[in-house]
Amino acid sequence: MSRPAQVVINLAALRHNFSRVRALAPASKIISVVKADAYGHGLVRVASTLIDTDAFGVACLEEAMELRDAGIRKPIILLEGPYSGTELQDITRLDLDIVVHHPDQIQMLEQYPGKAAIRVWMKVDSGMHRLGFDPATVVASWQRLKKCSAVHPDIRLMTHLANASNPASPMTLAQLDTFNKTCGAIQAQRTIANSAGIVAWPQAHADYVRPGLMLYGVSPIDNTESSALGLLPVMSLQSTLISIREVKKGEPVGYGADWLCPQDMLVGIVAAGYGDGFPRHGRTDTPITINGRRTRIIGNPSMDMLTVDLSTVPGVKTGDPVELWGNSLPVEEVAKAAGTIAYELLCAVHKRLRFIVHDQS
Ligand SMILES: *Cc1c(COP(=O)(O)O)cnc(C)c1O
Repeated sequence: MSRPAQVVINLAALRHNFSRVRALAPASKIISVVKADAYGHGLVRVASTLIDTDAFGVACLEEAMELRDAGIRKPIILLEGPYSGTELQDITRLDLDIVVHHPDQIQMLEQYPGKAAIRVWMKVDSGMHRLGFDPATVVASWQRLKKCSAVHPDIRLMTHLANASNPASPMTLAQLDTFNKTCGAIQAQRTIANSAGIVAWPQAHADYVRPGLMLYGVSPIDNTESSALGLLPVMSLQSTLISIREVKKGEPVGYGADWLCPQDMLVGIVAAGYGDGFPRHGRTDTPITINGRRTRIIGNPSMDMLTVDLSTVPGVKTGDPVELWGNSLPVEEVAKAAGTIAYELLCAVHKRLRFIVHDQS
């Protein structure tokens, strides 16, 4: 017997979602974003499946090394660029592209000895105010990079959208306007759109798009379900019901003893908890499905267990399959109930879980 909690990864769904990106942005090349262990789905597993992508985006050298070690030969872009000049040697050895978003990184490149053909994506801050060159400094920084003997002459331009998930927000058009004005005179390939930009802002598609979340089958648009966008969930977090008990009206359930049964009722115990990456804030009323039927969590999640309301799903028995998120329950909904976002839940899935990989449509 082994613990019933497990993650099921559906590679056919991943390929399907990739084809949705192609259909939505047919004129753009695709940089598949696989940082944070491919949003918890397994870096090499995901990258080896996305054989039609034009490039990969990762957050750090370690992730890029893992891909190269696995034999992935496609371009790989370090989305935050080098964190120090000492990384440049590995970057050239592994033939990685880098984002350059700060003058310190230009200095690292200027000080890098000898000729190298490091491909650079120069990042412009069009309004998110996280990474990127201030519009007023873009042209001067561009010229500085152009003079750098370590840099490949074909420099690209990049920016990132802060609020593309909200189709009603005026911010995206303002960012596009700033980016276009700032870079108007520069001849270079451009990349702007994350998943939300791909779905909601066709005018942001540019030469390359950078999907992350939507590849994994999660809706990048506020208040829009993934199914409405033709996306299929890639990850399913599952377990089983390991106990059923009758608890009397007024009796508490779980840690803190702060949830009291409103009536005599059946309470189920599911073998999964925050030790698996289920959110600790996914307490009372967070949805969950048993045998594909929807009910809710009651009380506080424990490390390895959840307590669930069985009063609305009569007839269930111990051993019945439970889905914490996946095909019968979008991870977006669980995230919302737990006061977080789907990105965080996917990334937090614990590596102690058994991963089962399927490849069926
Ligand atoms: C993570 C990331 C993306 C992907 O964003 P999603 O919202 O997951 O599609 C795109 N571009 C950059 C720079 C990123 O860091």
